[in-house]
Amino acid sequence: MTDTETATDCIFCRIARGELGTEFVAESPHAVAFRDIAPQAPTHVLIVPRRHITGLPALTEADAPLVGEMLMLANEVAQREGLSGGYRVLTNVGPDAGQTVDHLHFHVLGGRQLGALG
Ligand code: 5GP
Ligand code: ZN
Repeated sequence: MTDTETATDCIFCRIARGELGTEFVAESPHAVAFRDIAPQAPTHVLIVPRRHITGLPALTEADAPLVGEMLMLANEVAQREGLSGGYRVLTNVGPDAGQTVDHLHFHVLGGRQLGALG
């Protein structure tokens, strides 16, 4: 699958394609970073692959470089946002975790003291 294989009706595919005019905080060859529409912290950025991947369980061995690229993009966002006090990177998988968009994304949260997980 290539970066051009995206889903017509997927909101994150549409954002990644630039169709909605969403500003990218940062971007890399295979991923984009943009602000969450309902921020849970002063910095709440989503790291999204340009390719449509439904979530973490859909990744294959071949996607390892992409995951690395996404995490490096998270680091870049944190640096740009000045999150020197720390930040959290997470992804939700499935209904129990509260996944609401079926396109892989890492949340980057920071800018305040974050509570315990769960
Ligand atoms: P999830 O709940 O799947 O882990 O995270 C999905 C996130 O996407 C939520 O935090 C939600 O606020 C965000 N989101 C949903 N729709 C949009 C959108 O159209 N634009 C942006 N920027 N964020 C969105
Ligand atoms: Zn998608």
